[in-house]
Amino acid sequence: MSDKILIVGGGLSGTILAWHLYLNDVDFLLVNNERSNTSSKVAAGIYNPIVFKRFTASWQAELLVPFLDEFYSKIESVLEEKFHFKIDIYKILSNENEVELWKTKSKDFPNSMFMDENIIPNRYTNKIENNVGFGRVFNSGFVDTNKFLDLSHEYFGKIYKLKTCEILYKHINSELKLENEVFSNIIFAEGYYGEKNPLFPNLRYNFAKGEVLEIEVENFEIDHIISKNLFMFPVAKNRYKVGASFQWTFEDEDPTEFEKNRLLDNLEKFLKSDYKVVDHKAGIRPATFDRRPFLGQSAIQDNAYIFNGMGAKAVLLAPYCASLLLDSIQNKTELPLDIDIRRIKKVNPH
Ligand SMILES: Cc1cc2nc3c(=O)[nH]c(=O)nc-3n(C[C@H](O)[C@H](O)[C@H](O)COP(=O)(O)OP(=O)(O)OC[C@H]3O[C@@H](n4cnc5c(N)ncnc54)[C@H](O)[C@@H]3O)c2cc1C
Repeated sequence: MSDKILIVGGGLSGTILAWHLYLNDVDFLLVNNERSNTSSKVAAGIYNPIVFKRFTASWQAELLVPFLDEFYSKIESVLEEKFHFKIDIYKILSNENEVELWKTKSKDFPNSMFMDENIIPNRYTNKIENNVGFGRVFNSGFVDTNKFLDLSHEYFGKIYKLKTCEILYKHINSELKLENEVFSNIIFAEGYYGEKNPLFPNLRYNFAKGEVLEIEVENFEIDHIISKNLFMFPVAKNRYKVGASFQWTFEDEDPTEFEKNRLLDNLEKFLKSDYKVVDHKAGIRPATFDRRPFLGQSAIQDNAYIFNGMGAKAVLLAPYCASLLLDSIQNKTELPLDIDIRRIKKVNPH
């Protein structure tokens, strides 16, 4: 019997999962239907271990961040290219109350792994509006998602582990046969496009459209991710990404003037320099009702699994979650209930 795993979807989730299998010598085929504006291609690629609403570490950040660091480094060694950049986030603090809260929260573990308790004074007074200073987040950074996806797909293509086509649900049955090849398991990593997957009915997604801009600013030269209601960070000389919006109701996947203007209004609250918008994109995040990923086994077909629901955090969540899912398939370990799709029955038994 074949031990080969079929992965459906080559966005960040499916590609990260594929790398996890590759690095652990598990045979697989990644099947992706190329689309131009997927969430993964539009994503800013930032990982921020701190939840700015509460100044606390995000879910399992103390495990996820060291894990992703090692994981992306291993892939960079295989590909002999760099796509993971560790850079600090400078959070613009609004007032003295926020400064005090930052100082207090930064002392607690695991926040202390990521928050500098010393407030950073604003050295950029001619460029950034900020009277009380920055809260510095370290052990943060970003992945150039397009570079990562393009290089990964090229590599997997060369070793015959990537196929570009759409898997239709009507062709899936428990035999798991694709063009005369038989697979042991199938993992669906379809992002937003997996909403109607019949093997995983009743999952409660809460999709969030997002829009992101690229701007050109002369003589800005700040090497951090600046954050206040939105982020701004350097991607090339004089070029910065700005975003991202969150829309919970939307009509289509296209960028809108309305959200662009909203992003620019927020940007102008702190950016003092002149700028020019050079790009504007939109995508749909596969977010879930409780903002936790959807992992686990289908209740309808035993050899079918899901790896979805990464929401706004695929770069941070997917490497570690991929290891949990593979372990649950190979060694029958229990997934943590807060990311296992079985939790949905508990919330919504009907
Ligand atoms: C504006 C914006 C900014 C963002 N910024 C960040 C950020 O800074 N950091 C971060 O971590 N995340 C960010 N995100 C979220 C991140 O993009 C998502 O969490 C992530 O991309 C989801 O990846 P995915 O692979 O699950 O889904 P997708 O990106 O939607 O990829 C799914 C892939 O599967 C393919 N597919 C689906 N069904 C089939 C099928 N039946 N057969 C074959 N192929 C199929 C699709 O064509 C697609 O290629 C952002 C998102 C947006 C929109």
